[in-house]
Amino acid sequence: MVSKELPSVSPRTKTNGKPVFTDTMDYVLQKKLRVWCSSPDATWKLGQIQSVSGDDVEILLVNGEVLTLSPDRLLPANPDILDGVDNLIHLSYLNEPSVLYDLQSRYSRDLIYTKAGPVLVAVNPLKEVALYGKDFISQYRKKLNDDPHVYAIADLAFNEMRRDGVNQSIIISGESGAGKTETAKIAMQYLATLGDARGMESEVLQTNAILEALGNAKTSRNDNSSRFGKLTEIHFSETGKLSGAKIQTFLLEKSRVVRRATGERSFHIFYQLCSGANPLLKKKLFLKEADYYNYLKQSACLRIDGVDDAKRFSMLVDALDIIQISKEDQMKLFSMLAAVLWLGNISFSVIDNENHVEIVSNEGLATAAKLLGCSAPQLMNALTTRKIQAGKDNIIQKLTLTQAIDARDALAKSIYAHLFDWVVEQINHSLGTGREHTWRSISILDIYGFESFIKNGFEQFCINYANERLQQHFNRHLFKLEQEEYLEDGIDWANVEFVDNADCLTLFEKKPLGLLSLLDEESTFPKATDFSFANKLKQHLRGNSAFRGEQEGAFKICHYAGEVTYDTTGFLEKNRDPLNSELIQLLSSCKSELPKYFASVMVADSQNKSTLSWHSAVDSQKQSVVTKFKAQLFKLMQQLENTTPHFIRCIQPNSKQRPMLFEHDLVSHQLKCCGVLEVVRISRAGYPTRMTHQQFAERYGCLLLRSIASQDPLSISVAVLQQFNIPPEMYQVGYTKLFLRTGQVAALENAKNRM
Ligand code: ATP
Ligand code: MG
Repeated sequence: MVSKELPSVSPRTKTNGKPVFTDTMDYVLQKKLRVWCSSPDATWKLGQIQSVSGDDVEILLVNGEVLTLSPDRLLPANPDILDGVDNLIHLSYLNEPSVLYDLQSRYSRDLIYTKAGPVLVAVNPLKEVALYGKDFISQYRKKLNDDPHVYAIADLAFNEMRRDGVNQSIIISGESGAGKTETAKIAMQYLATLGDARGMESEVLQTNAILEALGNAKTSRNDNSSRFGKLTEIHFSETGKLSGAKIQTFLLEKSRVVRRATGERSFHIFYQLCSGANPLLKKKLFLKEADYYNYLKQSACLRIDGVDDAKRFSMLVDALDIIQISKEDQMKLFSMLAAVLWLGNISFSVIDNENHVEIVSNEGLATAAKLLGCSAPQLMNALTTRKIQAGKDNIIQKLTLTQAIDARDALAKSIYAHLFDWVVEQINHSLGTGREHTWRSISILDIYGFESFIKNGFEQFCINYANERLQQHFNRHLFKLEQEEYLEDGIDWANVEFVDNADCLTLFEKKPLGLLSLLDEESTFPKATDFSFANKLKQHLRGNSAFRGEQEGAFKICHYAGEVTYDTTGFLEKNRDPLNSELIQLLSSCKSELPKYFASVMVADSQNKSTLSWHSAVDSQKQSVVTKFKAQLFKLMQQLENTTPHFIRCIQPNSKQRPMLFEHDLVSHQLKCCGVLEVVRISRAGYPTRMTHQQFAERYGCLLLRSIASQDPLSISVAVLQQFNIPPEMYQVGYTKLFLRTGQVAALENAKNRM
């Protein structure tokens, strides 16, 4: 995952056709300044140049060691006045080690937030830090604290919303465990406190507890990993009071209900229910301990260290009460959860040499049927047989063992996914009826970051596609912002080219020969296999620079954050996401309200909405998973496009979920993936140092060797720049500010230090 190549220091950015780095490095060598030395293990060491002879540079490291390296193994380090700056844009040299060093030195002092230009970088502290709560909220509200913070971002969004009357968004990204969900909650806490209108605050915050119970799970990387994406819109009245909230969710990982890696858990709510339900509820749901259920015990992980599931259950019930989900609806929710668990305990045995099956576990069958509100024979038929149309007749076909297991699991997954959506609907219903008139909103997006594992499947394919879309939004917006500031201050500015991910997006979205269309097309052929899909991609996408066909049904996509190899195993099945008509029919004939409701949603979901017969609805082309996801994503992008965005990039400091540990290669990989280096690069091409004429004159006026006629800040500033022979292409004079390219302030700072 992490590149082990030696970090390259060749000039990557050119300004007006001239490599900036070469000049800078020459300067650094000449002046024997501090440098970063790359070492074979991809880490960087700080040192001071002692001597330069030809291609040999002798460097004294901080630990006293002396190295001799060629200049292409060195990068300029920043003067120590810039140690731990709170905005990376102030660094004179914006390179990987300088950024890492800055973040690390701040992190070690619990300063987990740093700005990268307009973007907030948040490094997960993995422990409690004293940065939150009422006092801090009030400090940020009153502008008494200017350290970078989520509160500051939320405050900015709130103020801009009120000032401009424009909806805002806070877009949080980062890999699993990086702190997105916590950050989203911190932002929500600020906004809810700010706009509190009698009790609405806690309602909005309680939605998190409910959605986390249903949508989060322990994974190998995060004990509380969100297995869905979420956009929370917080609505305000014209007077800035909280008036309601609305939640949209994306792509729940429902397969977790039936299968997952060893050591991981299913969704929290199952364990909470099993250990927290009181005896009466347990009796009503025929509930046993978690380890009684196949769906829960199979991954050999029932508990999370330091988490009391029973206590969490009572907190969940409190949250449901606060959101005003009725006791009756709560009961419906719990019975569906129990039904899912009992479905998993239905097992099959093979009855003939054609592998046909019958059900062996009567307990699972009978209890699941009771909870769903159908008869045991009805459930049994739906799980073990399928009606097939042969001419005018219907033939009943027995299912094979694999087919029956797939049908059972598909039913469990489908019930869970629809239950999740139903709960979101209930929450929205409860929070939507604003007690105050709704005027504008701030949306908080907490969505899975770019993923690149050793093995990547359909889920990573969807997640990374979503990230390409978000990255495009990010790029466009940051360039726009950057360039607007230059234009506003009247400086001469030619548009900066940036690493555009349009090619990759086209690879996904092009019709008819893009990844999504080809996947959908292949999914409609009953005889198609994952292998034939992989071959189809190879055949049609061969010439595309962002695509490469690989051996054994794999393919590679060149994403903005790096290359990812996908294994096509399971792609077609997951994209079709079939639920056979017997199962939909079963749900529709259940006596309980929810299964019936789920069936009606499934029918409405299938493309042919006018057809209400189960068979024709299912036989007609159901929308594929990627098609639905793409539509959702486009809607999301459209929504975001109509807001003023604020970006937060969360960083996981180490792979052990341990505080105070800062792993360089892991962090540097994430900085690349979530585009922080990109912003840094943009800034390097632009003029990252901005100072008002006044500030510049005050700081560097003392360096002037000759007195000048005019004492106004602008004249002083220009005289300083001329005296230091700063080439004209290295700065621009705006109406109010001076804009300087990377590295220029360092020269002035060095001169100041030698005074
Ligand atoms: P996923 O993509 O898996 O959902 P995530 O990015 O949402 O991951 P979180 O669940 O927000 O990650 O964070 C993981 C853990 O890190 C939290 O459970 C918490 O222990 C810790 N953490 C994150 N942010 C903070 C913070 N600001 N202060 C203290 N602890 C934090
Ligand atoms: Mg999360």
